Amino acid sequence: MTIRAGVVAVQGDVSEHADAIRRAAASHGDEAEVVEIRQSGVVPDCDILLMPGGESTAISRHLHREGIAPEIEAHVADGKPVLATCAGLIVAAADPNDDRVDSLGLVDVSVERNAFGRQADSFEAPLDVTGLDEPFPAVFIRAPVIDSVGDVEVLAEWDGRAVAVRDGPVVATSFHPELTDDARIHDLAFFESEADRREASKNERGV
Ligand code: GLN
Repeated sequence: MTIRAGVVAVQGDVSEHADAIRRAAASHGDEAEVVEIRQSGVVPDCDILLMPGGESTAISRHLHREGIAPEIEAHVADGKPVLATCAGLIVAAADPNDDRVDSLGLVDVSVERNAFGRQADSFEAPLDVTGLDEPFPAVFIRAPVIDSVGDVEVLAEWDGRAVAVRDGPVVATSFHPELTDDARIHDLAFFESEADRREASKNERGV
């Protein structure tokens, strides 16, 4: 099966995310065709979406100005998967706690931008993530934390604060899962839930 994956390509590690999506798809025997999203009209044809890091102010402005924001909202309303990482998490949050960010309200959390302070501007940490057997090597770069959660599942915490959550079809992380060659977060967000759904529907049909 070929999955059409859209990566928001305003800023951030677009090609690294594309590689991780392809690797995660391949581990399920699927193929991913990756398209870059810079203008409206691309999102409606995508099965899965990725919102990378960068600067949340600039990304959110671009998404609204180009008419991409309502397309992403419709994608989520259809129950289709999204992975939002770092600035992507801020853009996806219900409350970005910053007037300069025009967020999409896809994930029922409020966030604090650049929350780890200057000393820990960037660092790597082995993170226990719900759904993964072994810790994930998480790279944090001027990362946000999730400071209050509504109706979401917390998938990981660092230093007592939430850094990965799932809200329905959306998985959002404070860290950058594309910066190692470990594609398990992309897998968790996109393909494991897909595979589970396919398995459930097979069981329903008694196949
Ligand atoms: N500091 C950025 C912001 O607040 C996020 C950093 C990142 O995506 N690595 O928008």
